[in-house]
Amino acid sequence: MSYVITEKCLGDRYAVCATVCPVECIHPVDYKGQEFMIIDPEVCINCGLCLPECPVGAIVASEDEDKAYAAINKELTASCKNNPPAPERPKNDPPKRPGNKLIN
Ligand code: SF4
Ligand code: SF4
Repeated sequence: MSYVITEKCLGDRYAVCATVCPVECIHPVDYKGQEFMIIDPEVCINCGLCLPECPVGAIVASEDEDKAYAAINKELTASCKNNPPAPERPKNDPPKRPGNKLIN
């Protein structure tokens, strides 16, 4: 089991989550032509630090909460494990993805 980054991140990628992960298992990737981020399920230690950091609530605490995106995080991991860190956006930057709202 691991934490999972869901569709709300797609096109919004604030990258704040990656700055708090103690095991550096959150990696940037392009998915469907948009900026996205995934959690490597093999490395995540379920510490929970990332979840409250996400300004748009894109992170869930278990694979059961979003099985489709859990599979996507897993599939994309191999291709983006070595990508350089994504630039961080300010947490109060208005969301770009339709329907997203700032919650933190
Ligand atoms: S903080 Fe949220 S929107 Fe930003 S990269 Fe992490 S999961 Fe995606
Ligand atoms: S739960 Fe902890 S280890 Fe897993 S991705 Fe979030 S910050 Fe990293």
